[in-house]
Amino acid sequence: MKIGRLSHVGVAVESIEAHAPLYGGTLALEMLGTEVVPSQKVKVAFFKVGETRVELLEPTSPDSPIRSFLDKKGPGVHHLAYEVDDLEAALSEVKAGGVRLIDEKPRIGAGGIRIAFLHPQSTGGVLTELCERH
Ligand code: ZN
Repeated sequence: MKIGRLSHVGVAVESIEAHAPLYGGTLALEMLGTEVVPSQKVKVAFFKVGETRVELLEPTSPDSPIRSFLDKKGPGVHHLAYEVDDLEAALSEVKAGGVRLIDEKPRIGAGGIRIAFLHPQSTGGVLTELCERH
């Protein structure tokens, strides 16, 4: 498996609108856009940071995984996402290496990109996303 780069850092927030002035204003990061991802019950906003991005995640429903994260841990860093060339191959390799998968098969994330999550119990407490370069 070859990890190309850190694709993005996911940050859970109660409200993207409330945080846009920090990221887009004070930190002066370029906002690349927002998107609602119904399958994950989140609204996301991406801010460009060189070759990587910050992804703000706002829950869109009381049963959103981000809602339960916020309720348990409060706002903050939610996951790290690494970019890989071949997601199926990468999942097989990490599984063979003993990592527990949340997603046995790729699913579609923001931007139509194929993604899969690894279980934080297998990755030192860091929820880890692999996403496929496109
Ligand atoms: Zn992500």
